[in-house]
Amino acid sequence: MKKKFRIDQTKCTFCAGCASVCPTMAIVIHDHDSTINAKCISCGICERFCPLGAVEIIQEDSK
Ligand code: SF4
Ligand code: SF4
Repeated sequence: MKKKFRIDQTKCTFCAGCASVCPTMAIVIHDHDSTINAKCISCGICERFCPLGAVEIIQEDSK
C-alpha cells in the first residue's frame, strides 16, 4: 500500500518540525511554502508528527 502525502498550506505554520523527523529529508520548507518531494518513502512519520494535522494523505493505491 503506497500513500502519498501533501502538506495543507492553510494549516501549516512552517515550523519545520516534520522536516526534522523525516528520514529521507523529503520535506522542504521555505518561508511560507512547505513541500514533500519525490524522496518521500511514505513512512507516515510526518503525518503522525505534525501537531496541527497539516499533513494529509492525498492518494492511496493498492500496490
Ligand atoms: S510539522 Fe506541521 S506545521 Fe510544522 S512544518 Fe510540518 S506540516 Fe507544517
Ligand atoms: S511520509 Fe515519511 S518520508 Fe514521506 S515526507 Fe513524511 S516523514 Fe518524510
